[in-house]
Amino acid sequence: MNTRRQLLKSSLILTAAGLFRQNVFAAGTDSSKSAQLEPPPDLFDSQALDIDFWVKPRTLDLVRPQSGERSKLLYWKDGDLIDSAYQELCHLLRDVNGKKTMAMDPKLLETLWATQAYVARFGMNRPLEILSGYRTPESNRRLIEQGVPAARKSLHMDGRAADIRIAQLHEEVLGGLISSFRQGGVGFYYRATANGGWIHTDTGLQRSWKG
Ligand SMILES: [Zn+2]
Repeated sequence: MNTRRQLLKSSLILTAAGLFRQNVFAAGTDSSKSAQLEPPPDLFDSQALDIDFWVKPRTLDLVRPQSGERSKLLYWKDGDLIDSAYQELCHLLRDVNGKKTMAMDPKLLETLWATQAYVARFGMNRPLEILSGYRTPESNRRLIEQGVPAARKSLHMDGRAADIRIAQLHEEVLGGLISSFRQGGVGFYYRATANGGWIHTDTGLQRSWKG
């Protein structure tokens, strides 16, 4: 346990150092100010965001590795969803295997957007990878049968959950950021693969777990 924590801690520091360089690079300004930044999770506490962040137009840049699709869309402006863009995002978040689309919870889109917009402030402009969005009950059942972590009453089946990843951003940092929005459930799935693990985010009750 100690070793794992140690490992996690050192990757966090590495991640923070990585962000740090990008931040200094992107901002190209006052490095002494950047040097005062604490490592995550303090660095990623979204509660410090001001109202300007939440009222400006929202663009989402999503990629679906499973199908190779990518969409970068302005989907929300002046307090309203832009219907055509919303439909397109729902299509991207569909059940790729079951070939079914669901009206996704706009609150979930807000979490995805806020996450992306927040890390963009640190010079991270990679698209957000959607590993799973809507799931038909059949697809969800198949995952359980295959031993993939999936809840029997998964919010994926209601269009209220997504499994996501941002390249080169540690799951701990990504999940910590999403938790700080206090908008629903967050599952941390650590995996020692080349691409790392993923974060489950949903619009259900506020809770978090490791899977
Ligand atoms: Zn999930």
